[in-house]
Amino acid sequence: MKEDIVLPKVNGKRSGLNGNGKHNQLINNFDLIGDNHVGTSIDTPMREDAFDITDNEKMAIIEDKFRDIMETLGLDLTDDSLQGTPHRVAKMFVKEIFYGLNPENKPKISVFENKFNYGEMLVEKNINMNSTCEHHFLPIVGKAHVAYISNGEVIGLSKINRIVDYFARRPQVQERLTVQIVNELKNVLKTDDVAIIIDAKHMCVSSRGIQDESSSTVTAEYSGKFKEKSVREEFLKYVIL
Ligand SMILES: [Zn+2]
Repeated sequence: MKEDIVLPKVNGKRSGLNGNGKHNQLINNFDLIGDNHVGTSIDTPMREDAFDITDNEKMAIIEDKFRDIMETLGLDLTDDSLQGTPHRVAKMFVKEIFYGLNPENKPKISVFENKFNYGEMLVEKNINMNSTCEHHFLPIVGKAHVAYISNGEVIGLSKINRIVDYFARRPQVQERLTVQIVNELKNVLKTDDVAIIIDAKHMCVSSRGIQDESSSTVTAEYSGKFKEKSVREEFLKYVIL
């Protein structure tokens, strides 16, 4: 028997139903990675052919497959309440909660000259953030606190919210989301002096697995001047205010 770790193929498709030693080991790894919320890369892992088909084609495929899932669970899709669910889920995936996968949806950010010569730290805190755990496809809900020190350019405050939202609307791990937002802000503002703290609740922790209702996860990324203790502390002070 071949020793590589791949799911066995059934009718030409990868299947999770066939049990053997290697396969069970792989499933164990899946559970471990999920429960530990291990991320593997800064870039969202995407297939090269990710945008070879249109949003409408994606929605049609997802609708079909989600209907299969519901039927597999034994649900009666002729029921009035359930009938439209595959369509609603497909539309929600492509147009709402995962719209941030498509680079075409990236917010176009224009920067302005910093006319007031405001050289201090700018903090935008309590930015609403709705994301989705890529290991369980359950919501991550929380707040992002963002700061930067202008290098001569400023952006509209609402643009920071849009950048946070764009990167949040993907299957995510919180650590990757944190770094992706900082990298984008550094790019747009042409400065290294950017910081972010994200404080979020993971539904996959509260509603399944360990079922901890009260814990939240905090991640932070400090870049440029924010690596200095005094600058970081000033930022933290504003966030607590
Ligand atoms: Zn999860």
